Amino acid sequence: MKKPYYIDYPQEPFEGHMHKYRCVYCKVETTIINGQLEGHLPSCEYRVKLEDAGYDATGFSEKLVSHDSDDFD
Ligand SMILES: [Zn+2]
Repeated sequence: MKKPYYIDYPQEPFEGHMHKYRCVYCKVETTIINGQLEGHLPSCEYRVKLEDAGYDATGFSEKLVSHDSDDFD
């Protein structure tokens, strides 16, 4: 089971950066998470909760398999 984007996690602004946001739990910047579950740290409460619910943090193996295809379209 996988969602195309994981964007329903709680976010908070970086101090001093009005337009930069990060995950409340793992403190990873939203632009690094990029809507992907594996963008969160493995210990992130949000990621752990979704993985417990049966969602996969795929991505890595998928990207390795399809690196030669035109994914950027
Ligand atoms: Zn997180």
